[in-house]
Amino acid sequence: MTSSLKLCAKCVLPSTFPNITFDQESVCNFCRKQETIDYRKFDATQKLEFDETLQRNKGVYQYDAICCYSGGKDSTYMLKMMIQDMGLNVLAYTLDNGFITEQSKQNIKKVTTALSVDHVFYSPSPAFMKKMYVESMLGELNKNRGSYKTRISDACLSCISLVNTHAARMALQMRIPMIFAGFTPGQIPRAVIKNGYRHYKETWETQKDHFMKTLGSEADRFLNLREDGMDICQMSPFLVYEKSEKEILDSIRSLGWIYPENLDGCSSNCALNAVGNLCHEKKFGFHPYAFELSQLIRKNLLDRDEALAKLSANVNDQSLEETLEKLGLSRADLEKLASPRP
Ligand SMILES: [Zn+2]
Repeated sequence: MTSSLKLCAKCVLPSTFPNITFDQESVCNFCRKQETIDYRKFDATQKLEFDETLQRNKGVYQYDAICCYSGGKDSTYMLKMMIQDMGLNVLAYTLDNGFITEQSKQNIKKVTTALSVDHVFYSPSPAFMKKMYVESMLGELNKNRGSYKTRISDACLSCISLVNTHAARMALQMRIPMIFAGFTPGQIPRAVIKNGYRHYKETWETQKDHFMKTLGSEADRFLNLREDGMDICQMSPFLVYEKSEKEILDSIRSLGWIYPENLDGCSSNCALNAVGNLCHEKKFGFHPYAFELSQLIRKNLLDRDEALAKLSANVNDQSLEETLEKLGLSRADLEKLASPRP
């Protein structure tokens, strides 16, 4: 799809991306804006806040931090960093959304064993997950959620909301003062967000009628939170410890982590991602990872050619069929999304 589009000469944003303009050298306004920002100063302030938050919360409770551990390359590296570099007492947690591949589950077992870290799987009801994904991708579950579509697919947005809501629930119940997530520079604005989970609580409060009508009363169990006033910091270490993909992969191979096969170019754990990407491209006319990968290119953390390869890597037909079957969908259902929306 991207091959017929005009792309920025520096990053991988296409002409279909919202609010994009190109100059005479075919460089986009997002790249030009980046050139004017002093990132060293910005990052130094964030690093200070990150380290200060870390020290303040270390050793206060039985666990220092929850690691939202998908089993993908980035969160594997983050978990390793939390244990070996930051010396944290960690509870690693994986949401089993029903689409984590067997090879990824083996990676999770190998890594948590190698790092001697406590780990829990949380597997919400498969019927609820299926309904949530289908209503996200083909329906309008996220229609009131603002400008997310430049950064993330509907399927991922719903999943991440559930992951973060449950992480906050565990943190509140078990008195764990920090939650680490593997967001990259394009995905979240700050490295430390105090009580960042309240964003999900507010989303629930303003949209609970819509969520309950679309997903049933069960939605309350997965997307609502009972708060108790404890302060919890949302930590995003990749905003202050920038690592190239090569550095990450070289480092985690020593834990026995193997790149899983039969996934799309942008996921290293989840088979649903490929379908989420397809739906996003059909609905909006651009790839949901284009912005994030462009941000990594601008920060010299990824080559443009590698990013293009990731965006055009298609999952094989059999894997795609298996994922669609689990969702109770067919290719014809996806074709109904064929015209990009404004
Ligand atoms: Zn650009």
